[in-house]
Amino acid sequence: MITLDNVSKKYQTRDKGWFTAVEPTSLHINQGEIFGLMGYSGAGKSTLLRLINLLERPDTGKVLIDNQDLTAMSEAQLRQARQNIGMVFQQFNLLSNRTVADNLLIGMHYAKASRAEQAEQIRRALQAVGLKGSERTRVNVLSGGEQQRVAIARCMLKPGNVVLADEPTGSLDRRLAHEVFGLILSMRERLGKSIVVVTHDLEIARRCDEVLDIAHPR
Ligand code: ADP
Repeated sequence: MITLDNVSKKYQTRDKGWFTAVEPTSLHINQGEIFGLMGYSGAGKSTLLRLINLLERPDTGKVLIDNQDLTAMSEAQLRQARQNIGMVFQQFNLLSNRTVADNLLIGMHYAKASRAEQAEQIRRALQAVGLKGSERTRVNVLSGGEQQRVAIARCMLKPGNVVLADEPTGSLDRRLAHEVFGLILSMRERLGKSIVVVTHDLEIARRCDEVLDIAHPR
């Protein structure tokens, strides 16, 4: 489903010169698997996550999703491929002065469903994340936990099978963190999505099928 074959990334900075943010890494994530990335701050977790959808281009190696080699794609092909990859961020990354429905429609741009079908899909996704009837609510009046539910609904509505989550519960209190992570898990149970999650939370790591601690040599 997701294969990283020997991907690595170096950056050049003024003070440090060239340094390796991600050491050569190979891993395989099956469909429906939830894969945790742990490690100290600065270990390269977010960079590794961004290498999976080529928001960062790896210096070496290949990234395959559903047997398609993302590293061989043109920018236009990549933009298309990214439409199928859901993302959840610590800071939610929603359009905060737009409505919940507007935010969800963005992800459905390529789905080519009729307006009535889209409205029905949005209604069902909002029900699944506990935000039934909030289509017309502006995102900036929602709490952090509610905003993250919108971001999860947006992933549910994407056609593909991959969700990348960067500290998705990092700005939520303990109780909300576990509710929200439960919803992320339900995307794999109900929709068969594969989920890669960067986290510091040991309880969340325990609920993953596999965990890579990137502070350790790979
Ligand atoms: P983590 O998510 O584990 O905290 P990151 O992947 O964010 O770590 O960063 C790993 C290292 O790469 C850090 O030292 C960070 O400052 C550096 N880094 C990340 N992105 C860039 C970039 N675009 N340019 C230069 N350095 C970067």
